[in-house]
Amino acid sequence: MYRITVLPGDGIGPEVIDEALKVLNVISNKYNVKFDTKKYLFGGIAIDKYNTPYPKETEEACLNSDAVLLGAVGGPKWDMLDGDKRPEAGLLALRKSLGVYANLRPATLFSPLRGSSPLKDELLKDGLDVLVVRELTGGIYFGPRGTEKTEYGYKAYDTEVYDTKEIERIAYIAFEIAKKRKKKVTSVDKANILDSSRLWRKVVNNVSQKYPDIELNHLYIDNCSMQLIKDPSQFDVILTSNMFGDILSDEASQLTGSIGMLPSASLRGDKVGLYEPVHGSAPDIAGTKKANPLATILSLAMMLEYSFDMVDAAKDIRQAVNNILEDGYRTADLGKGKILNTQEMGDIVVKYLKE
Ligand code: NAD
Repeated sequence: MYRITVLPGDGIGPEVIDEALKVLNVISNKYNVKFDTKKYLFGGIAIDKYNTPYPKETEEACLNSDAVLLGAVGGPKWDMLDGDKRPEAGLLALRKSLGVYANLRPATLFSPLRGSSPLKDELLKDGLDVLVVRELTGGIYFGPRGTEKTEYGYKAYDTEVYDTKEIERIAYIAFEIAKKRKKKVTSVDKANILDSSRLWRKVVNNVSQKYPDIELNHLYIDNCSMQLIKDPSQFDVILTSNMFGDILSDEASQLTGSIGMLPSASLRGDKVGLYEPVHGSAPDIAGTKKANPLATILSLAMMLEYSFDMVDAAKDIRQAVNNILEDGYRTADLGKGKILNTQEMGDIVVKYLKE
């Protein structure tokens, strides 16, 4: 029995979460595994009731679960609140309280969606299946920062800081995952300029000694961002720092077409993880049944794979999604085809999984 804390959140969050839970139910029956799922308030809806986006009760449930599944938070109703009181502040608090330091964002192009990618078809003939492993709790977003008055105006600074332990633990995650994929890690840094990157490279090289079967290469961030567009099929796992990963994962994700297809996982080196679609709460389409639930369903597949070792169940879900797209079914964000609403897309995933 696995305990999953479910945080539907705001906007389209509850809509896409409901479809993922339908899929989880089928997986439970098909693989004879029990999941105890319980929903808690998080984000704007929690602010309305408890005046905080991440209430104590929700935090306790998250800390006592095997995995957390999150929809999305935020919306115009809470936009006028101060930064630390907004729904999005709950996201940082949640990641911090779970201690998840590794953010995994796969950019996988389902072949029926090749036409939605901004890349030329000839660049996609070998497929696109890149996993960005981004360090999530260190680097410039957390280093010493400040703004000081000068004679002329102000001086502001942020500092990139990494220590051996922080680099080592994220490197291990990248190499372990590469073992189950195409066995290649590309570490991305700016070692020609930055001391922190030189340490990054040294530590990654040391960790790689323990993985003789995994190919390792290093790229500078500027070159990597170019190569992703020029020749994306050269990549398997991209291992990088917080800021470089923030930028590269967005770039890679756009190569796959729609934000409605992109899942993510945040891990901390054991089985506990946080799983969420990359998209936000999409207030512009909330309540219209237009939300694509596939990013959340694919986040669920990541949970099955990374938190519960149910690799076959995860593959099953990805295959069902591919077959559905192959058969021409789409939600509105995916362009022309047999257009389904949110619930219908969830239902058809359930149907294909049962077949
Ligand atoms: P968004 O991702 O919510 O929406 C961007 C665009 O993509 C919109 O046009 C939306 O309709 C579309 N879209 C997003 N998800 C979709 C889906 N599943 N199916 C179909 N179309 C989809 O980003 P935004 O508009 O910049 O932000 C809206 C709110 O969400 C803001 O309050 C923002 O702070 C919040 N946000 C939350 C998260 C999160 O919870 N992790 C992430 C990003 C943004």
